[in-house]
Amino acid sequence: MTRYSAFAIAREAARYHSGWTRAWRKPEPKPRYDVVIVGGGGHGLATAYYLGKNFGITNVAIVEKGWLGGGNTGRNTTIIRSNYLQDPSAAIYEKARSLYETLSQDLNYNVMFSPRGLMMLAQTEHELRGYQRTVHANRLQGVETEMIGPREIKRLCPIMNVDGPRYPVLGALWQARGGTARHDAVAWGYARACSDMGMDILQNTEVTAIRSEGGRVRGIATTRGEIGCDRLGVVVAGHSGVLAEMAGFRLPIESVALQALVSEPIKPCMDVVVMANTVHGYMSQSDKGEMVIGGGTDGFVNYTQRGSFHHIEETVRALIETFPMISRLKMLRQWGGIVDVTGDRSPILSKTPLEGCFFNCGWGTGGFKAIPGSGWGFAELMAKGASPLCAEFGLDRFREGRFIDESVAAGVAH
Ligand SMILES: Cc1cc2nc3c(=O)[nH]c(=O)nc-3n(C[C@H](O)[C@H](O)[C@H](O)COP(=O)(O)OP(=O)(O)OC[C@H]3O[C@@H](n4cnc5c(N)ncnc54)[C@H](O)[C@@H]3O)c2cc1C
Repeated sequence: MTRYSAFAIAREAARYHSGWTRAWRKPEPKPRYDVVIVGGGGHGLATAYYLGKNFGITNVAIVEKGWLGGGNTGRNTTIIRSNYLQDPSAAIYEKARSLYETLSQDLNYNVMFSPRGLMMLAQTEHELRGYQRTVHANRLQGVETEMIGPREIKRLCPIMNVDGPRYPVLGALWQARGGTARHDAVAWGYARACSDMGMDILQNTEVTAIRSEGGRVRGIATTRGEIGCDRLGVVVAGHSGVLAEMAGFRLPIESVALQALVSEPIKPCMDVVVMANTVHGYMSQSDKGEMVIGGGTDGFVNYTQRGSFHHIEETVRALIETFPMISRLKMLRQWGGIVDVTGDRSPILSKTPLEGCFFNCGWGTGGFKAIPGSGWGFAELMAKGASPLCAEFGLDRFREGRFIDESVAAGVAH
């Protein structure tokens, strides 16, 4: 792998950029690997990376039916925060957020992490009390958040209408080191590092069956042939139910489309991320100048990776109340991704009834921010059979009624 540096850019500039090598190899599938990861999104790639980096397991294939990051990883609104209420969630999201701080250096790939600060607006008394409770919980968990009032909100985000026609802004839950990162770059950075460790990234390779024998996983069938493995990690977000059926069990998740849209690019006008959960809409400004806007989930189970007009109308209406200046913006693109939602709005990182087969899913509307922490914990679970970060996120919690209720922190799409 060519190391990226200022020196490398200068050297390549002097020789017409003829010396760059491919970011990752394009290998043919081998008949067998120690570990196969299904799903070339952020979580699958991060899992493979930490398997290699933390446990020296490098005979690994990452099998992706489309292109890397073509699922939700490349479709999200890139928000990163760790201000969750429950201890297990705060632990994994804060681990992820802290890994994001140095991810570019770690991967030698610029993931454009921008800890510009994030606020979740409280627009009802109830919401205000809820966020105050979260701030207290975050203090105990070692997550740095605070409550700020309308004057400070207006100072941080002058384009906001804090008086609001329907709901005035009463305060906000502020996380100064929350922010955004470039989502494709996160997938590409991990992929490049995995390939450099000798792992095989198999794009355009769909898994069509999971092979097992005597209750143990033996491998997978793919559109490019059979691949054997001792351990299988399934990290396919909205398709988790489909893969679970191949493995012979059912998951307590529903798959629904979540939507987002971006405006035409404009001059810098907002250097924080704002989530307005009561009116439902959230917005940040990308480095290109587009206003990146998150909408809601469809109210019915489906597998469409498209946007729909009623969501645009609802979301834009909510945001115009909060940011009147965007009423004159043209919207450029809209899209959707299939998110995998659990009843308690917390993820599943777990062993399964099929020995050797592990599932990492249920990140729903908010898993981009978790990618490094999830990969770190899931790799440990796959390598050692247990991980403190994943301990509470097992499938058994649904049988035992040990829910990790994050419906307030994760109820809004983000
Ligand atoms: C519109 C939208 C906005 C969002 N905004 C945010 C946000 O601001 N912040 C945040 O934290 N999160 C956000 N999310 C959620 C976040 O994007 C996801 O939780 C996260 O990207 C999930 O990553 P993943 O790697 O698990 O899944 P994915 O990136 O979806 O990767 C799964 C991969 O599995 C592959 N696959 C599926 N079936 C098979 C098969 N049979 N064989 C081989 N491969 C297969 C798919 O092609 C896909 O590439 C948003 C999501 C959406 C849709």
